[in-house]
Amino acid sequence: MATILVTGAAGYIGTHTCIELFAAGHQVVALDNFSNSKPEAMRRVARIAGREPLFHRGDIRDRVALDTLFATHAIDAVIHFAGLKSVGESLSEPLRYYDNNISGSLTLLECMGRAGVRRLVFSSSANVYGDPHTVPVTESFPLGPTNPYGRSKYMMELMLRDLAAAEPAWRIGLLRYFNPVGAHESGLIGEDPHGTPNNLLPYISKVAIGKLEQLNIFGGDYPTADGTGVRDYIHVVDLAAAHVKTLQALEREAGVQTLNVGTGTGYSVLEMVAAFSRISGCAIPFRIVGRRAGDIACSYADPSLAHAVLGWRAQHDLDAMCRDSWRWQQGNPDGYPDD
Ligand code: NAD
Ligand code: UDP
Repeated sequence: MATILVTGAAGYIGTHTCIELFAAGHQVVALDNFSNSKPEAMRRVARIAGREPLFHRGDIRDRVALDTLFATHAIDAVIHFAGLKSVGESLSEPLRYYDNNISGSLTLLECMGRAGVRRLVFSSSANVYGDPHTVPVTESFPLGPTNPYGRSKYMMELMLRDLAAAEPAWRIGLLRYFNPVGAHESGLIGEDPHGTPNNLLPYISKVAIGKLEQLNIFGGDYPTADGTGVRDYIHVVDLAAAHVKTLQALEREAGVQTLNVGTGTGYSVLEMVAAFSRISGCAIPFRIVGRRAGDIACSYADPSLAHAVLGWRAQHDLDAMCRDSWRWQQGNPDGYPDD
């Protein structure tokens, strides 16, 4: 059993990871500033786990608060989710993104170093690959993010590698997530985007439940089997489990582990629409519109390194992703309630 600080714990991936950490017998110290989440999410985590995370409301850019937090709890490792994640927003507000994702992470790293905590799992993204020249994408592919959000992840990867090279006591997992979807099977926690969703599956769910009229499919002329974009959708519970496995791997492995976290299978937008419609029993009206600026045709992972290093593999199939997203959507049509 270890004590793990989870930053961004109240968010989509953070909540699911807290559950997996408790299930693995760990103690959780949770930190979030609720800039993109609500207190109810943490209460739901406690309800599912039957245990209370030690929650602190605070910001990763607040050095004093972090020093106090490390002084108060005997933290063994940090899973660092806190950050901003919208590609579109990052294009219009790059400095806000660099401040949160870079300055915030640097402050966290400094406070970790001062407290002698040198184990970290960092949320990177498949976004760091930019437009991959071929698929499946392996970790050795060239990196070339095309927007400030992706660049913030890329820069953090570089800094973390520099840090581990300078101070070999650091053990770091850089997890490059593909497209997280789905929800906990209890239906109590899930993805709760503000306003109109940008991501495909939350948008489809809102069309299915009748809150949005129809899906706009961004591009029908990509060089893919049906002309729509292809992505590697991964169930958020599988993704959460990969974090627990990464903590275990950091017990064994020194240095930096850079790993793709995906299923290895790509699905097109039309395949996602058909699967969600079949599972929910709801029609998903759609129309094909122009491509979204900055989108790529096709990306899916080669997850074999994660399997070799972590002994981890995604367990949930596309039906489970749609079923669990739909259960969460039906039980929480307006997301988490406000306090
Ligand atoms: P999320 O927005 O649901 O969760 C992030 C949490 O961090 C939120 O609860 C937010 O309130 C908190 N937060 C943000 N800035 C903070 C700060 N300065 N101090 C304290 N808390 C702060 O996002 P998510 O989907 O759970 O993503 C988690 C991480 O994974 C992010 O770093 C994201 O960039 C990365 N990631 C997400 C995806 C995805 O599609 N969801 C894909 C690849 C990588
Ligand atoms: N997409 C779409 N309509 C939407 C949202 C997304 O057609 O309203 C497509 C998008 O073009 C991409 C896929 O769905 O091909 C996944 O998009 P998402 O934004 O979820 O993930 P990302 O593009 O960041 O991988």
